[in-house]
Amino acid sequence: MAKEFFDKDFKLGILGGGQLGKMFIQEAVNYNVNVSILDPSADAPCSKLASEFMVGDFNDYNTVLQFGKTMDVLTIEIEHVNVEALKKLEADGVKVFPQPHIIELIQDKGLQKEFYQKNGIATSAFELVENRPQANQLPIVQKLRKGGYDGRGVQVLKTEADLENAFSGPCVLEELIDIEKEISVIVARNEKGEVKTFPAVELEFNPKANLVEFLFSPASISKSKKIEARNLAIQVAESLNIVGLLAVEMFLTEDGELLVNEIAPRTHNSGHHTIEANFTSQFEQHLRSILNLPLGKTEVMIPAVMINILGEPGHTGPVTYQGLDGLMKTPGVNVHLYGKTTTKPFRKMGHITVINEDLNTAKSMARKAKKALKVVSK
Ligand code: ADP
Repeated sequence: MAKEFFDKDFKLGILGGGQLGKMFIQEAVNYNVNVSILDPSADAPCSKLASEFMVGDFNDYNTVLQFGKTMDVLTIEIEHVNVEALKKLEADGVKVFPQPHIIELIQDKGLQKEFYQKNGIATSAFELVENRPQANQLPIVQKLRKGGYDGRGVQVLKTEADLENAFSGPCVLEELIDIEKEISVIVARNEKGEVKTFPAVELEFNPKANLVEFLFSPASISKSKKIEARNLAIQVAESLNIVGLLAVEMFLTEDGELLVNEIAPRTHNSGHHTIEANFTSQFEQHLRSILNLPLGKTEVMIPAVMINILGEPGHTGPVTYQGLDGLMKTPGVNVHLYGKTTTKPFRKMGHITVINEDLNTAKSMARKAKKALKVVSK
């Protein structure tokens, strides 16, 4: 008989053992799914939680091959992995979700933009270049095609003086958009082709770190924009034929247009609130989608605000948290610490989800929580 996901010899592998893997394991435990992790760091957040933990480089062909060949299903929590090894594993019969060719596309922001263009998916105007931009092209958003992450490898160039800091090498040059709001829709698709989206959320970025600072759920946009955003996310997922979760980050422009900014084929920072605030969490939905199970109901149960707990600037070293007690006394404040042993300026060390029947109350509670908690070195 075919192996079932709850059998003790069924193995689900993840490339990467950070916080996303950790929160995924928390859900997988409910379904008795054994999770194996490959991560370069022996004390990664998943190291004590995984059924099997292998220390190794997920960018190395042989390491990924060796890890993946004993898995029934293999997934990722980071896109910067060895795609050639995943292709070989897929050819050998391992179910690799998201599919390797999708990961390959995501690794290159230039291919991503071309994909939107080919599939009629609304996105900002762009040009792919090999060299640094010229003064007559300003203002422009310059993005390194490869290797960027969490805002690194992206910069706005406005003046001729900015050109001195321009990246060299293959880049995407994008039209600078007047953004009204940044929103995200997470969509899940299983092998049967069943598709479900989470309600849109609104994202507020920290301009210094270029990381999500506040997330508001649900997004304060019109009903028709919510439907448009949902349809756009589904269009992307179906054009890719993805199996698994896909976060679709979009701009709502000042002209009221929705444009896809970028996509991530995995669980995502813009879905952390779903653990407490939606019927199904993004982590459980990812599990359901890659195991070809029925997808869960995604509706909002209660409004939520999520804040990332970032390492305080000026602090590097073994971590300690100040102000936790006060936060834990406040009803509706849910703290998640990822278990990273050392802090660095702006490193994502955890997150807080504040839930409240009233989104505005949740917002002011979240702003207070952010001030109250400090991540410092010992
Ligand atoms: P990353 O992959 O590092 O998350 P993004 O492509 O999402 O990089 O860009 C990071 C941020 O930069 C976006 O969230 C947005 O605030 C800003 N940004 C990106 N592209 C544009 C653009 N074309 N116009 C205006 N702002 C942009």
